[in-house]
Amino acid sequence: MLYTEGRPIADGTAPDGPIEDRWSRRRFEAKLVNPANRRKLRVIVVGTGLAGGSAAATLGELGYQVTSFCYQDSPRRAHSIAAQGGINAAKNYRNDGDSIHRLFYDTVKGGDFRSRESNVHRLAEVSVEIIDQCVAQGVPFAREYGGLLDTRSFGGAQVQRTFYARGQTGQQLLLGAYQALERQIGLGTVTMHSRHEMLELVVIDGRARGVVVRDLVTGEIETHLADAVVLATGGYGNVFYLSTNAKGCNVTATWRAHRKGAYFANPCYTQIHPTCIPVSGGHQSKLTLMSESLRNDGRVWVPAQAGDTRPPREIPEDERDYYLERMYPSFGNLVPRDIASRAAKNVCDSGRGVGTTGLGVYLDFADAIGRLGRQAVADRYGNLFEMYERITGEDPYEVPMRIYPAVHYTMGGLWVDYDLQSTIPGLFVIGEANFSDHGANRLGASALMQGLADGYFVLPTTIGDYLADGPFDPVDADHPEAVRARADVDDRLRRLLAVDGDRTVDSFHRELGQLMWDHCGMERSDAGLRKALGEIRALREQFWRRVKVPGDGEGLNQALEKAGRVADFFELAELMCVDALHRAESCGGHFRSESQTPDGEAERDDERFSYVAAWEFAGADRPPVLHREDLTFSYVHPSQRSYK
Ligand SMILES: Cc1cc2nc3c(=O)[nH]c(=O)nc-3n(C[C@H](O)[C@H](O)[C@H](O)COP(=O)(O)OP(=O)(O)OC[C@H]3O[C@@H](n4cnc5c(N)ncnc54)[C@H](O)[C@@H]3O)c2cc1C
Repeated sequence: MLYTEGRPIADGTAPDGPIEDRWSRRRFEAKLVNPANRRKLRVIVVGTGLAGGSAAATLGELGYQVTSFCYQDSPRRAHSIAAQGGINAAKNYRNDGDSIHRLFYDTVKGGDFRSRESNVHRLAEVSVEIIDQCVAQGVPFAREYGGLLDTRSFGGAQVQRTFYARGQTGQQLLLGAYQALERQIGLGTVTMHSRHEMLELVVIDGRARGVVVRDLVTGEIETHLADAVVLATGGYGNVFYLSTNAKGCNVTATWRAHRKGAYFANPCYTQIHPTCIPVSGGHQSKLTLMSESLRNDGRVWVPAQAGDTRPPREIPEDERDYYLERMYPSFGNLVPRDIASRAAKNVCDSGRGVGTTGLGVYLDFADAIGRLGRQAVADRYGNLFEMYERITGEDPYEVPMRIYPAVHYTMGGLWVDYDLQSTIPGLFVIGEANFSDHGANRLGASALMQGLADGYFVLPTTIGDYLADGPFDPVDADHPEAVRARADVDDRLRRLLAVDGDRTVDSFHRELGQLMWDHCGMERSDAGLRKALGEIRALREQFWRRVKVPGDGEGLNQALEKAGRVADFFELAELMCVDALHRAESCGGHFRSESQTPDGEAERDDERFSYVAAWEFAGADRPPVLHREDLTFSYVHPSQRSYK
């Protein structure tokens, strides 16, 4: 048996009534904490990316006692710094027909009708405030000649609502959040622990009360306790080994919480980004994104004939297939990511892929350079072009880029209600770590929007409703549950070191990633997923017999860090395959080969699958329990998505 059925789950905190009023109603109805009492309340925030950094800074500003953790050497090295293309907001500066309702509509539709309307509407409302907040912090967004903030297009939208800072939007936004965080560290409201990795959650009397962390430099294991815990620990795309994520991104914090009772929602929803530099060989440990913003001006094409190996500039116009423009004339090169990725796979599968592996398509700027001039293109994308040239040795001003889809983002994550609280009271989850707003496919430039919405605006309000009942009974590190959590961490580290086998952690990770890519990647099938499940279990068993972790736990040991993360990836991978297997429909980033329309588009099955799949951990050797949260649509009615 792969899984068992549990009781349905409902989001008990989302208000009803007109959708435009729900967030303001929740804000009004949420209990407030008097400023004098905030000083007595302690909150742990794990993660200092855009979600965690903004949350810790804002909670500190509100006067809570915040303790913040990250595993990097500085909070501002969080993976958010890699974000390139931009952040969406319904400002309508362009006067091109944008509105909060349109951003809401595009996001629900873009997510293939697998997200909650209430959450997405709130996200669209808050998007407007985020830009003001960041501008006030001094984030240097691009401006047009009149001085207004400039915007560009991203996939899945016909308006230009993406604000950007060249190709470094994440870095600039993170510097804004980091400065706000540093201010609070200086003021003493936030205590920062960098180079600390959370390895366990402490749950006492049914409430999240703390974390067990390892000091990555000294190896010391520490217990930290508080009135509430916030996880802002990012996504788990690295389960695929090769992805565009920073190498450190992992699932450990959320997976440990899952094992302690937090449900994991829609784990199989993975975003495969269409514009990444293709894999060039077995030596690679990471893939590189070429921002979606490039699709504003770059045209995607392949040779019209299979087997045409001429250099791109020698292939005449009428022997090229600009397949996205041909298949989706309304949106052209700016169709959403899931659609662009699948189309690239299909043309490559039909033998028309380019490059030595045949797994690539062209992204060509010749038209844009002819129309706008080289300097204008350099002003928009210069740093991306330079990055491409450094990696491939080819000059994209002269020859088209070669791109191919790669794992980029995970829509799945810990289940949270409208208040961003998980199924463990007192455990809140924000940013990419939760499952909340993107359904089965995230639109470009919406992750930064969600992370900052959660961190600057939503969580600081909703956590107050929970903390208003605190401070909770004092607990200390000698509490039996805290002692047990710490002992579990010690025991696991000892076990990993004790195996002393003959295979590196990376070799297992690479093999696991390949299995996931082959069977739970761009296309999934019943047979493939069943095969993967068997192979993942066998590989996991081998991992615990043969992994070699050199050194000890008494100091810096990156092999030990990786081993713990890969051990958790093994368990997650299994749940991802079970989730993908049970969802016998195609939707968004989850494409089941058995469920497609005659022209190869994803075929949803709303009758049977219009729900969030929230998985409960039932024990190491027991199948997970499925809890369904039904999705209802009153404002954006599910239809076959069309970008034609
Ligand atoms: C190359 C690239 C480009 C992108 N470009 C865009 C873009 O243009 N627009 C857009 O909207 N989105 C973009 N995204 C997606 C976006 O960057 C991420 O979804 C977002 O930044 C995630 O933010 P976060 O705060 O949730 O997590 P992260 O930024 O991943 O931060 C996670 C934090 O948690 C900490 N952490 C994790 N586990 C532990 C642990 N166990 N113990 C202690 N600390 C822990 C880390 O140290 C880190 O501080 C891009 C993604 C990539 C990969």
